[in-house]
Amino acid sequence: MALLSSVLKRWAGLLALVGLALGVLLFVWLWPTIVTRPRLARLGAYLSDPAAHPEWQLQAGTRCPGAPFLFPTDGYLGFGFGDSWRPGHRHTGFDIFSPVGLNRTPVLAASDGYLTRRPDWLSTVIIRVPEDPLQPGRQIWVYYTHMADPDGVSFVDAAFPPGTEEQFVAAGTLLGTQGNYSGDPGNPTGTHLHLSIVLDDGQGAFLNETRIENTLDPSPYLGLKAGVYDDWSQPITCAGDQ
Ligand SMILES: [Zn+2]
Repeated sequence: MALLSSVLKRWAGLLALVGLALGVLLFVWLWPTIVTRPRLARLGAYLSDPAAHPEWQLQAGTRCPGAPFLFPTDGYLGFGFGDSWRPGHRHTGFDIFSPVGLNRTPVLAASDGYLTRRPDWLSTVIIRVPEDPLQPGRQIWVYYTHMADPDGVSFVDAAFPPGTEEQFVAAGTLLGTQGNYSGDPGNPTGTHLHLSIVLDDGQGAFLNETRIENTLDPSPYLGLKAGVYDDWSQPITCAGDQ
């Protein structure tokens, strides 16, 4: 009996350790989803009456002092880089929600660069920035999407038809208007701009922007505090502000 009880004790200890490790892993896995939940509530509050919260809005064409990129559209930064709507998923950029709805909120180029719109892109353009202003010597890409109606009728400006390649645009150039096309016809998102900063593959092409490891936090490019959205309860401020 004594032997059995000591074996059981050893196993119990091991099981407790394994349980603890699994618990920690589960918590790490769920954490991004947990911290995103309050942002859903705040976005709901904004969208229920955008005019009541003008101080929550970014203003297209303005920029934080010293920021390399300007704000590309009007609206509320509802979701940040790394946010999560379901366990295992991480958001690859910024979502900026229109105060006025479909096809009414201009989207501007946040920086100078060379615009490409692939032949099958209904709602998307990508702009090549040859020199990363925050890490000179490497090329980055800025990806703008959701510029179409729920069925994929495009709101991308007529200056950039499907198949456009390497067309120079200056910062502030009109690219289109905010839409809600999700890529799945008839299944719209809320009206917003999704903006991603995408890494180059080193051969002059952009990496898959749907994978978070291929993207960068846009915060420092817009002059916002890095990881600004770690604290959802605070107003969004420029990095130099208190
Ligand atoms: Zn997004």
